[in-house]
Amino acid sequence: MTIRISELWKIYRVGTEKVQALRGVDLHIRANEFVAIMGSSGSGKSTLMNILGCLDQPTAGKYELNGRPTHKMGAAALSRVRNEEIGFVFQSFELLNRASALDNVMLPLIYSRTNFWGAKKRAAEALDRVGLSNRMDHRPNQLSGGQRQRVAVARALVNKPSILLADEPTGNLDSKTSEEIIALFQKLHDEGQTIVVVTHEEDIAGHARRIVRLRDGRILSDHPTEADPVHREFLARAALMATEAVAVPTADSLPGGPP
Ligand code: ADP
Ligand code: MG
Repeated sequence: MTIRISELWKIYRVGTEKVQALRGVDLHIRANEFVAIMGSSGSGKSTLMNILGCLDQPTAGKYELNGRPTHKMGAAALSRVRNEEIGFVFQSFELLNRASALDNVMLPLIYSRTNFWGAKKRAAEALDRVGLSNRMDHRPNQLSGGQRQRVAVARALVNKPSILLADEPTGNLDSKTSEEIIALFQKLHDEGQTIVVVTHEEDIAGHARRIVRLRDGRILSDHPTEADPVHREFLARAALMATEAVAVPTADSLPGGPP
């Protein structure tokens, strides 16, 4: 698995307006990397993810996925690459509300040549991998937010994609559930899955091994997580707050003891 992006530009045209969403991005991602993409709203994260996921094409520049030049492909070839190589997870889950978890996960296999029973078995295995083997017959509205996102992760994994892409997968979840989802990503990464995740939460990004920061459509910085200056500062501040929390005097420790 390799992603090679060079001099990537994306320009949106809205009426007579032009928006330069990506302005010359270079990025190389190798097999089994776990990358967090960060940056403020409007910095181009989703635009980059949609191109990485072959949901959209660049205006200029190159994107080679496993050596195949996707920037030269037509819609049919691109959708084939998407089905074979990409698992995509969205902030809003994008599940079919009237279908069971199992049927949702089976959906991508309709387009492949797997037979029904084979597809069912693979979908069940994917749900098992995300810890939902006891919820296969539940519909999305019978599941918690975190469980819904795990169904979406299982659906993304069912075709055994070479890369798992997630655009703010914890954006609709509370912090405890977010931790669960990112812990699941960490497990998948330990099992060998290559992962690129967009987040604007520093603690979520801390689970990745590498942080790429975008600003105004360009790469601002690209560091291993432990070497990222912004992330180090975040950790230092969090550690300080933890010690201050411990240092707050309790009623028992105050002079004179409790009243
Ligand atoms: P992010 O995900 O970092 O918030 P986006 O990639 O969604 O940023 O957007 C980058 C820029 O491109 C923004 O200025 C946004 O308004 C613009 N943009 C995104 N998608 C479209 C689109 N489909 N048409 C026009 N402009 C767009
Ligand atoms: Mg976005």
